[in-house]
Amino acid sequence: MKIIAVGWNYADHSKELNPSQLPEHPVIFMKPETALLKDNKPFYLPDFSGRIDYECEVVVRISKMGKNISKKFANRYYDEIGLGIDFTARDLQNEFKANGSPWEICKGFDNSAPVSEFISKEGYDVNNLHFSLKKNGETVQSGDTADMVFSIDEIIEYVSKFFTLKTGDLIFTGTPVGVGPVSINDRLEGYIEEKKMFQFDIL
Ligand code: MG
Repeated sequence: MKIIAVGWNYADHSKELNPSQLPEHPVIFMKPETALLKDNKPFYLPDFSGRIDYECEVVVRISKMGKNISKKFANRYYDEIGLGIDFTARDLQNEFKANGSPWEICKGFDNSAPVSEFISKEGYDVNNLHFSLKKNGETVQSGDTADMVFSIDEIIEYVSKFFTLKTGDLIFTGTPVGVGPVSINDRLEGYIEEKKMFQFDIL
């Protein structure tokens, strides 16, 4: 399986990191399968970075193979949603951006993609889904998929031009404003609407 992620998909967060204009197409990157962290296992701060940021994101699980999927039919290609963190080694990312180098290391390192259990999308309006992240009990990010620059269906249309989507592939759909660093002994809790999706510790 592969993990596809979208950068700068919420206008307020884009301004936070990248004050220039919004992207014309979804900004896509990938994380390897070894980035997955499941079952609320703790995240161990890696020694290669002095600043790991959380980015809480709605994650979509692809349910059948597809290529060149049109936006109109994209909703047939996923049936479950979850919540994840796109952990980012921000200090390394800033270096790579300054050099014009690829991002892979700062986004795709081991355990950089914690994900919750996945739940059926039935009963949820995926285009108007509220989600939030608490750090040590305090809400630090609060977003709604209605505010995405590119909708889930538009993301699927775009990425499937380049990459065949396969059952089990995950798409991280971007993070709202409020990203920030984690420190040892922090606790992260993520919610979709009122439902608690994950809780894990930073060690
Ligand atoms: Mg992200």
